[in-house]
Amino acid sequence: MARIFCVANQKGGVGKTTTCVNLAAALHEAGQRTLLVDLDPQGNATMGSGVDKRGLTHSVYQVLVGLAALDHARVASPSGGFDVLPANRDLAGAEVELVALERRERRLRDALQAFDNDYDFVLIDCPPSLSLLTLNGLCAAHGVIIPMQCEYFALEGLSDLVNTIKKVHANLNRDLKIIGLLRVMFDTRMTLQQQVSAQLEEHFGEKVFRAVVPRNVRLAEAPSHGMPGVVFDRNAKGAQAYMAFAAEMIERVKTL
Ligand code: ADP
Ligand code: MG
Repeated sequence: MARIFCVANQKGGVGKTTTCVNLAAALHEAGQRTLLVDLDPQGNATMGSGVDKRGLTHSVYQVLVGLAALDHARVASPSGGFDVLPANRDLAGAEVELVALERRERRLRDALQAFDNDYDFVLIDCPPSLSLLTLNGLCAAHGVIIPMQCEYFALEGLSDLVNTIKKVHANLNRDLKIIGLLRVMFDTRMTLQQQVSAQLEEHFGEKVFRAVVPRNVRLAEAPSHGMPGVVFDRNAKGAQAYMAFAAEMIERVKTL
């Protein structure tokens, strides 16, 4: 049975896509059968996996509106080895079309069901909003991974997301839980970041992943080469952190 995780945070630029692509590549390397679902019309996870979003005949859009099954739209990441259900701008229109469809929040969940035995992990890269697309991600998932920067307003921004997750849990998906908070773009030299990090541990305890992803330029350079950071420069500190995170996820799913 596939374990399905949504990487979500309604803020943009917090490291969702970087986390999805690198976790997918690190899980694949650890022998886990992994699918990355790109749910963002920007298609950054698609491009970062080395798949050209402009040349797609099928994408997650066709899957969500019922024009294609998953096996017609998924492709293998040439650089990362994992499977990708890619996205491009077609997905921007899906939001409006989905509203009129039956089971509109459960389209992704339904689409993944038939392929449950193909994967150990499914990772869903959400757009920076609490939209119907994100809702599809949350309805399909067993858990949410929340990447966050240790900034002054980080905890405040978290409450909207936590409330949304609670509502989805109550009304749409009883399986859903927060798996954990992942500290990303971490700069140990900043006292403030260390303070916020300590606060997170105090408030959320076990829910804070042990792995901490540092700010690392190699992770930011990798997408322009169409490669996950863990493949582009596996010895870089950022890559090492994502490999440690993958190992932690493999451990953690055993307890779910
Ligand atoms: P989101 O998907 O939440 O919008 P991204 O993963 O696209 O966020 O990250 C935003 C930007 O920050 C990108 O340019 C990315 O390359 C960069 N970035 C992400 N994580 C790191 C990191 N640990 N160190 C340095 N740059 C990072
Ligand atoms: Mg993104």
